[in-house]
Amino acid sequence: MPARKIAKKTINEFRKMLIAKRQILSGDVNCMEDQALKGNLANSAGELSHTPLHLADRGTDNYEQDFTLSLIESAEDEMRKINEALDRISDGSFGICEPCGNSIPLERLRVIPHTTHCVACQAKIEEEEGLW
Ligand SMILES: [Zn+2]
Repeated sequence: MPARKIAKKTINEFRKMLIAKRQILSGDVNCMEDQALKGNLANSAGELSHTPLHLADRGTDNYEQDFTLSLIESAEDEMRKINEALDRISDGSFGICEPCGNSIPLERLRVIPHTTHCVACQAKIEEEEGLW
């Protein structure tokens, strides 16, 4: 049983927030993927015409591309969490801390609507990750 029932109206607000956030993220990802792709095309065009001159430049391009790819990865990770949060809204487990089963305070959900941990459990995880 959920420790606390969130009002339907509040749940709807969170659902809207999550969907809006997902839209922004997917727009960002599309845009970044475009850029990464264009970078690739520019690289291969450079290789065809004047490879030796562009060797130095290519290092920077690859670096920027890696950076873009890591941004895409973290955006995709966030989108996955948002999707999971929307699933939890559907099955009624939204707002419940996964490890301890306590209610996550609404103030916390308003800041990070896709979180699955209360502050105490999150702190514990960060502490454990800090050890590695
Ligand atoms: Zn907890």
